[in-house]
Amino acid sequence: MVSKDLLDILRCPACVREKPGMLKLVKDTWLVCQEPGCGRKYPIRDDIPVMLIDVGDKWVNTAEDALPVPPPAE
Ligand SMILES: [Zn+2]
Repeated sequence: MVSKDLLDILRCPACVREKPGMLKLVKDTWLVCQEPGCGRKYPIRDDIPVMLIDVGDKWVNTAEDALPVPPPAE
């Protein structure tokens, strides 16, 4: 598991400059940006959140319910 302290400080790298960029933990393995119009989803692989905009972009159009667990490798 990723520590709650770490999850509390993580923000969506695409949004954080202009907005809060708060993330929601989904299925214990994904961090979903809560900003309207963003929808990027960041996988947690081997307990390490992958906070890369390019990676988050890939999952914008994937519904939370459809996110694969565990997240696929690159
Ligand atoms: Zn975002």
